[in-house]
Formats: sequence, structure tokens, C-alpha cells
Amino acid sequence: MADNKTTLYQHGTLALLVPGLLDGTLKMADLLAHGDTGIGTGEGLDGELIILDGTPYQIDSNGRVNLVSANFMMPFANSHFADYTPLMHVDQITRPTLQRRITSKVASANTFYSLKITGTFTNMETRAVPKSGQPYQSLAKTAANQSHFIRETVTGTLLSYYSPQVFDGAAVAGFHSHFLADDHDFGGHILGFDQVTGDVSFQQFDTLEQHLPTTNTAYMGHDFTQDDILGDIHQAE
Ligand SMILES: [Zn+2]
Repeated sequence: MADNKTTLYQHGTLALLVPGLLDGTLKMADLLAHGDTGIGTGEGLDGELIILDGTPYQIDSNGRVNLVSANFMMPFANSHFADYTPLMHVDQITRPTLQRRITSKVASANTFYSLKITGTFTNMETRAVPKSGQPYQSLAKTAANQSHFIRETVTGTLLSYYSPQVFDGAAVAGFHSHFLADDHDFGGHILGFDQVTGDVSFQQFDTLEQHLPTTNTAYMGHDFTQDDILGDIHQAE
């Protein structure tokens, strides 16, 4: 079967993290079967993951960048097969300007797409969450222990997924971005940066393949009507 370049694969939902359904329910090897590029988190919110050119990396809460094994388990992750098209070169532009330029260049805000930006960023600020154990607490409580990292100037790759508003809850509506420095000594879930100089490329999807952890009894038995899913996602993300 040829790799499908227009499908975004997602395991789990952001919503299941909210009440603390943090069991690892997908192996890295199985995520890589659905893409050579991606982002995610480990069991118990164990760090921030980024997959580039088929190699999965974890940025842990100590700020270390680790190679991820095939048996590493995840509650939530995205992957796809890279087939990016160059979108533009940017020179010392701010994050809001970048977002405006991107939204004016992409055809529509109503489908999923990925952005890959290779370049140099100033005041790049990231976070990574330490792994928690059972019994798991809510996303808000678990994420409150996150570590913050900042680099004045750093060269690397930003990988982002854009999700349309109507999928808020299944994903984060808008952009969800992770970063890895070229020298592999910095990265994480992006909280912000000041300016970027580099190349922006773009890949649009027409299909979301949503996989759910149907063999996980905690997930299958959970009553989501008692949770403030959207409120808590926007507090934590
Ligand atoms: Zn993230």
C-alpha cells in the first residue's frame, strides 16, 4: 500500500487527557506505521514527543532529548507521512505576523494541515511535563508540574498541526506545535517565541483517521458528561 499523504492519523483524543486517562494505549512502533512525522506525549504525560524523518524523540521534564524506543507507550499522538510543499521564506518576523501570513496563504481554516518550519528562533519557550504514575490526576493538575525551558537563539525544526474549530476537544482547535533543536539539546511543546527566520512548508490533509483506545477499560468506562473538557483543555494548552 502506498503511503497516504493526505491522511492525518490520531490516537486518543485531547479530551481523554482532561480527566487523567493517561494510560499508554499505543506503541511507538504502531504510531510510526501511520507516519514518519508527528507529535505526542508518553504514558502519564511523560514528556513531549516529536517525530522527524521517521525518528521519534522525547523531550523530558529535565530538558533532555532522548531517542524513543519502539515499545514506548502513548495516550495521545498524531502522525502522518511527510509530503510538504514550500510555502514561504520568512525573515525576522514575530509569531503573530507569522500566523497572519500563514492563514492568508493557506486555502482554508476548515481542514487539518501540518506546518514545518526550519530556521532560527529567538526567545523560544517550551515546556515538558514530568511522567506521573497511577492513580492519575487531571490534565490541569498533572500539567501544573511542567518544566519551562527558554533559549535566546536556537536553530531547529518546528512541527505543528492545525485543527479546525469544529474538532476542538478531539484535538486543540488551532495550532499544536512542538520543537526540536538541530543540536538535539533543546525542545518541547512550544509556548511561544519572539521572531523566526527560516523556511515554512505546508501539508494539507483531507482525512482524519481517529483511532480510539478500545482495549483500555478506564477509557471505555469513563463518563465524560461530568468533565469540563473544553475549559480544562484551554487552561492546560
Ligand atoms: Zn504538545
